Amino acid sequence: MMLTCRELTEIVTDYIEGRMSLWDRVRFQLHLGMCTHCRAFVRQMRLARSANAAVPSPELTPELKEALLARFRDWKRAQDPEESSDP
Ligand SMILES: [Zn+2]
Repeated sequence: MMLTCRELTEIVTDYIEGRMSLWDRVRFQLHLGMCTHCRAFVRQMRLARSANAAVPSPELTPELKEALLARFRDWKRAQDPEESSDP
């Protein structure tokens, strides 16, 4: 069963923090291998995490995660051939 982009965004924190089972990690990386949007998304989440490392809380703030998710949706929309207009 392949992960969807939406499922991936829900478990990305577990992935980055290494709290994922081996099988989930394989599914996650399989999806990353074929989805540039999610690769960019995971990279952004990683950067956000490392920026957060100095802060006591180990979790991404909901606000930050929501901001990244919104950007992620914009990327997908921008690259969707159904919705993009011809130059
Ligand atoms: Zn994806």
